Amino acid sequence: SVKGDYNTHFALYDSDMHQTFLANHELVGEGERALREGRFEPFVQPVFDLATGALVSGEALVRWRDPQKGLVPPGQFLPFFENSGFIIRLDGHIREAVCQLLVQMSEQRSSCPPVSVNVSRLEFYDPRFCQNLIDLVSRYNVPPSLLRLEITESAYADNLPQLLEAVAQLQSHGFTVLMDDFGAGYSSLSMLRDVPVDMIKLDMRFLGDGGAGAQEREKGILKAIVPMAKSLGLPIIAEGVETADQAAFLKSIGCDYVQGFLYARPMPRDEYVALVAAAAAATPGERG
Ligand code: C2E
Ligand code: MG
Ligand code: MG
Ligand code: MG
Repeated sequence: SVKGDYNTHFALYDSDMHQTFLANHELVGEGERALREGRFEPFVQPVFDLATGALVSGEALVRWRDPQKGLVPPGQFLPFFENSGFIIRLDGHIREAVCQLLVQMSEQRSSCPPVSVNVSRLEFYDPRFCQNLIDLVSRYNVPPSLLRLEITESAYADNLPQLLEAVAQLQSHGFTVLMDDFGAGYSSLSMLRDVPVDMIKLDMRFLGDGGAGAQEREKGILKAIVPMAKSLGLPIIAEGVETADQAAFLKSIGCDYVQGFLYARPMPRDEYVALVAAAAAATPGERG
């Protein structure tokens, strides 16, 4: 067992914190083993054109297939993997899988809808990130426009000059940058003004959990913010759309695209490929 400095160090923490530390440490170890054993995979949730109903793109969302726990969603492990830095290797694996998926879909059809991946702030600020992406898409011969990058709005505040440089560099190489979870932070308007992303994602899950009146106020904000974003030429994807009322509201304020349980849940890759094929067959000529 471990002695000396280690014990002294932990004497500063209460035993709950010690337990939490050990549990997190163990989770990261389990994650590394699971990665070697191929237990992480992207699910994909489709995004639809609100006006035509056409399937236009997808978002890759990591899932951990554990023999005991079943299918584990990212909320239960990503925060720990972000703290330990393991997220970078996990995301590398997810992006490889997404490139393979893009190759598979491109081989089946003349046109392939883009898929977005979520990027942790840790990696977005890594100066090698863009070159790593270029190497990746070159290796698979995938056009950069097919691999979209989602960066959560709250990550934008960290370091504006570095952020602007990263976004510009990615865009100059043909990648598309999406601002995820737009409207969730307190700096949405300045982000909109300062950061020239290609698209924004509004999360409807932020609506209406703040007690009486909150939903109306938030709707009021969306009514103002969506036309503002559109005047900047930014397409808008609403995610977390669960009800027909939400969809009608989004349509009324000029939102372009929707993603949510109302339309489809995140699904295994094979199901997504089949859905894309069926959608293309149902709307011939829709995508060239
Ligand atoms: P996000 O990027 O904002 O992804 C959207 C989340 O909303 C997903 O949760 C999705 O399953 C969920 N969602 C979609 N439609 C609905 C709906 O109608 N109702 C509700 N209640 N939820 C809906 P998920 O898959 O649990 O992912 C949670 C977050 O974890 C993501 O939020 C993203 O920030 C992060 N994440 C997921 N996959 C990855 C990944 O591969 N890498 C990184 N770095 N982060 C990821
Ligand atoms: Mg996302
Ligand atoms: Mg997110
Ligand atoms: Mg989001």
